[in-house]
Amino acid sequence: MQLHLTPADEAFRQEVRDFLRDHLPPAMARRSRIGMHPPHQDDRTAWNRILNARGWAAPAWPREHGGTGWTPLQQHLFETECRLAHAPELRWQGLKLIGPVLCAFGTDAQRARHLPPILNGDIGWAQGFSEPGAGSDLASLKTTAVLNGDHWVVTGQKLWTTEAQYSDWGFFLVRTAQTEKPHQGLSMLMLDLRSAGVTVRTIPMINGDQSTAEVFLDGVRVPRENLIGEPGSGWAQARFLLGNERTSSADVHKAMADLARIRAIASIEQRGGRPLIEDPAFVRRLAALEIEVQALEWSVLRVLTQAPSEHPVGACASVLKIRGSELQQGLSELAAEALGPRSLRVYDRAAGFADPDGDPLWHDQTPGVRVDQLYLRAVTIFGGAREVQKNIIAKLAFGL
Ligand SMILES: Cc1cc2nc3c(=O)[nH]c(=O)nc-3n(C[C@H](O)[C@H](O)[C@H](O)COP(=O)(O)OP(=O)(O)OC[C@H]3O[C@@H](n4cnc5c(N)ncnc54)[C@H](O)[C@@H]3O)c2cc1C
Repeated sequence: MQLHLTPADEAFRQEVRDFLRDHLPPAMARRSRIGMHPPHQDDRTAWNRILNARGWAAPAWPREHGGTGWTPLQQHLFETECRLAHAPELRWQGLKLIGPVLCAFGTDAQRARHLPPILNGDIGWAQGFSEPGAGSDLASLKTTAVLNGDHWVVTGQKLWTTEAQYSDWGFFLVRTAQTEKPHQGLSMLMLDLRSAGVTVRTIPMINGDQSTAEVFLDGVRVPRENLIGEPGSGWAQARFLLGNERTSSADVHKAMADLARIRAIASIEQRGGRPLIEDPAFVRRLAALEIEVQALEWSVLRVLTQAPSEHPVGACASVLKIRGSELQQGLSELAAEALGPRSLRVYDRAAGFADPDGDPLWHDQTPGVRVDQLYLRAVTIFGGAREVQKNIIAKLAFGL
């Protein structure tokens, strides 16, 4: 595969850089750079609206539904530049998960109602697939939806519903029929989280934050028209969605920004009277990770551009998910090591940004490093656990 930026691609990248320079508020970029989980909701909304005003909120969507019509390479350049400039990460559940599902499987009425507020960041969405006892084995989920007149009545419990506590709506995988093959009785339902019978309970995380939640559904009445596609078609939609989720959880753009962060820390941090970046042992580790990130970038581009491969795209997406998530963990560990004991000083939302000790890296780097590292313990689990991805590769790529 040859990767050459044409003059048109170079001009495109410059256009994105100019836009970011002119429209991304520095204070917002700083909050994003120091890596909170979950990111500041107000920043996400504000940045989403800035992008939407330019028509850039959902580059990958079909053009007729609000996408940009950019090539896969242009989308990649855009995401890379946004990450390197520390633009806030947008709410992916709407823009990258349910939005594309509605574009592909929704009715005109569902698209007309839900796509514009997703594009503008007006409505936050949460993904309600996993349950206690149904994570990797998703088809065994037990939450039911029973049709009663014009409503589905939903009963059950969801677990790890990320950001449900900040969301207005959820897309839930539910059982609408008991079938011999469990996945054939599943459907995807859009549910207003303010409905009677919905209880959201946040889950404290290892990094001290609360980014995910349990959702209890107790006889929740959902209008019949909120089901996507035909009853029983939820598995096809879920597979479509999970394929997208897996490719984006490789998050090569974050890895590229993390490399820049480590370099910035190591240029200031001192070891034995010299900047850490001059330490040969440290630089060897950084270079090894950099090579891996570059290899991942090329692999992502191969998938995005549908370069010929002897393996099916599903297997490639699983490879990207494994490599991308392991790399994110490696990078966050190196960043924490580079900071040494000071990485233990985590940002306290309530206390704000004050720096009592004059740490030269506090303003731009320190607060989010350990928070990020601890959060990323989960990246080899969510979006499909590593061992399960290996099973998929074994089956799809090698017929085992
Ligand atoms: C921080 C975080 C955020 C999340 N966000 C969401 C969300 O927004 N929405 C949502 O629906 N879900 C979410 N999840 C859930 C996530 O998708 C599941 O945790 C994941 O699919 C694994 O399921 P499980 O936790 O039930 O573990 P299990 O499926 O019980 O797996 C436990 C262990 O067994 C291994 N294992 C399981 N089956 C096999 C097998 N067949 N062969 C080999 N090994 C196997 C797994 O790899 C894992 O190591 C989130 C999880 C986390 C931690």
